[in-house]
Formats: sequence, C-alpha cells, structure tokens
Amino acid sequence: MTDRYAVIGNPVAHSRSPDIHAAFARATGQDIEYLKLLAPLEGFAAAVASFRESGGRGASITVPFKEEAFRLSGVLSDRARRAGAVNTLLINPDRIVGDNTDGAGLVSDLLQNLGIAIAGKRILLVGAGGAARGVLGPLLDEKPATVDIANRSAARAAELAAHFAGVAADTLAVASFAALSGRRFDIVINATAASLAGVAPDLPEAIYAEGALAYDLMYSSGDTPFMAQARAQGAQVADGLGMLVEQAAEAFLLWRGVRPATASVLQALRRAL
Ligand code: NDP
Repeated sequence: MTDRYAVIGNPVAHSRSPDIHAAFARATGQDIEYLKLLAPLEGFAAAVASFRESGGRGASITVPFKEEAFRLSGVLSDRARRAGAVNTLLINPDRIVGDNTDGAGLVSDLLQNLGIAIAGKRILLVGAGGAARGVLGPLLDEKPATVDIANRSAARAAELAAHFAGVAADTLAVASFAALSGRRFDIVINATAASLAGVAPDLPEAIYAEGALAYDLMYSSGDTPFMAQARAQGAQVADGLGMLVEQAAEAFLLWRGVRPATASVLQALRRAL
C-alpha cells in the first residue's frame, strides 16, 4: 500500500507542500501519496487520529497547530523541544514523533542556496512568534557573533531570549525597535507576520551593514514590504521560499531516509508563484 502523508492546517488550501513532496518523491523514486487536510480549529488531535487510522505515516503541520502538535507528540526531537513547536510528525504504529525542521530549513537556505555565512555575523531577528522561536536555536548553533531580538511586544522578545539564555547568554540580546537606531547588522531576518498585513516592521533606517542580507520568512512573487524597504537601503534581499523547500526536504529525510535535491524544486516553485 502507498504510504500516505499530509499537510494539516487551517487554512491549508494555499499550501505548496503537496507539490514540493510530489516533486521530491518523483526525484527519489519513492512511492508516496501526499494530501492537504483541513483540520477544524478545535479538532486537530481528532484529525491526526483519523489520518493515522487511514494509514497516515507522517504530516507537515502548519498554522495554527504547531504548538498543539508539540503537545500531542509522544516523543520530541531536541530541535522540537528547543523550539516549543512541531512542524513535522512521524507517525509510527506505536508512537508519534514530533520534529521541527523550520530552523534547519532556514540555515540550509542561507548557507547552501544563498551562500551566506552565519558564523561571526551580527544578526537581527525581528519577531518573537512561533517562527522566530523555531529558527533561533539552529541559528545560534551556527555561532553568529551576536543575535538581537526585536519584537513589537517587547515582553514576548524578552521571553524568547530568556528561553535560550542558558545556551547563548553572551550572544543573545533584546532590543526595542527604537534602540536599533545607529546599530548595523549583517543579516536581518523578518520573522514577523507583518508582510501578511502588507506592511514592514517599524525598523529604523540604516541598520544594514555593507553587503548585508535582509531575509523575509514570508515569500511572494515580488518583494515583500520588508524586502522593498531593505533593498532601497542597499541590502541584498531574499524571501522564505528557499526555507520552505529546505524544511520540507528535512521532513522528507525524516520520513523516507533520503534527503532530496532541492534546487530544481525551488526553481519550479519560483516560476509558478
Ligand atoms: P506568529 O503569529 O506566531 O507570530 C507573529 C509575529 O509577527 C509576532 O512576533 C508578532 O508580534 C509579529 N507581527 C505581526 N504583525 C506585525 C506587524 N504588523 N508589525 C510588526 N510585527 C508584527 O506567526 P509565526 O511566527 O508562525 O509566522 C511569522 C511569519 O513567518 C509568517 O509570515 C509565516 O508565513 C512565516 N513562516 C515562513 C516559513 C517558511 O518556511 N518560509 C515557516 C514558518 C513561518 P507581536 O508579538 O507583537 O504580536
């Protein structure tokens, strides 16, 4: 019987994951089926249970269920535990394993696809929601010089920094948007949902060092407002489409034991945006 996988979210209609995993399956010769499953907002656990009963072997978890997936997982990977969120489920007959591949996806996109070193860099992470939490641990593992977290709600940024203080007290700091004035960063990562609202986070001008990269986790056919603002200030820009494909490749590796090549899948997705 063909192994079944799915992306589970609400909403889920917009998800590109079925196309990505179908392309990975073709390229690696794996026989899998990959569906979109819309779970009711109050019915995530039931949706996972019925998918499991119908032969589901794994799932990608998207908004708003990543924290619920964390609580539902019987076993957690280290990176899921650090993130406090799960974006990938491996469904075994006896247990559900929760993993988080978002941070590894971002790091792969930066290092491999964009050729941007992280070690020794001054990073500004804007946002302190689920995505910021997911990428912070893997970013810190790459030994940047500093990571400043700035968020609209300062308390949430402080909470996130406190969560990682044990492993990176010397590297991590919290900054208000105003306090960033006069500072320079090599990599600025927009992990806010501001682009969804068609706006850029309220960052001061001139925060980009020479040759800096502005990376928006959100992706779109053109520049997001954050990317447009950064480009106007001379930064190079990238969106999160590469991260999306790389996090999926990590999930595919967990499920199928083979990490698919990503370049042609990323190119095809970019053309289809
Ligand atoms: P959350 O809802 O958990 O967090 C939202 C964050 O955005 C908070 O820090 C919030 O600040 C901030 N925010 C929202 N609106 C604004 C605004 N108008 N101005 C400034 N800050 C704002 O969302 P996620 O962390 O799950 O997702 C964030 C983004 O990352 C989304 O765009 C999502 O699509 C993208 N993403 C991309 C992935 C990829 O593979 N490319 C993977 C995962 C996420 P506050 O705390 O003050 O409310």
